[in-house]
Amino acid sequence: MLQPITGYHRDDEDHWVAQLACGHNQHVRHDPPWQNRPWVTTAEGRTRMLGFKLACKKCDEGAPADEQPPSPPREND
Ligand SMILES: [Zn+2]
Repeated sequence: MLQPITGYHRDDEDHWVAQLACGHNQHVRHDPPWQNRPWVTTAEGRTRMLGFKLACKKCDEGAPADEQPPSPPREND
């Protein structure tokens, strides 16, 4: 199910996690050459992708909502 990005936070390993409107979270790693999401490495890029729809497998599986902590203050590194 396609769900728009409503925010971001970082996980324990400093990977970016997108928060989706459905209440689920999804990793948005920039890990070339396998996963190319250079936009996630900058605050500007992340802001630009707000509202972009990602396919949410957790919705398809009927998974319970994830915890969605607020974005960290260190937005730029
Ligand atoms: Zn979902």
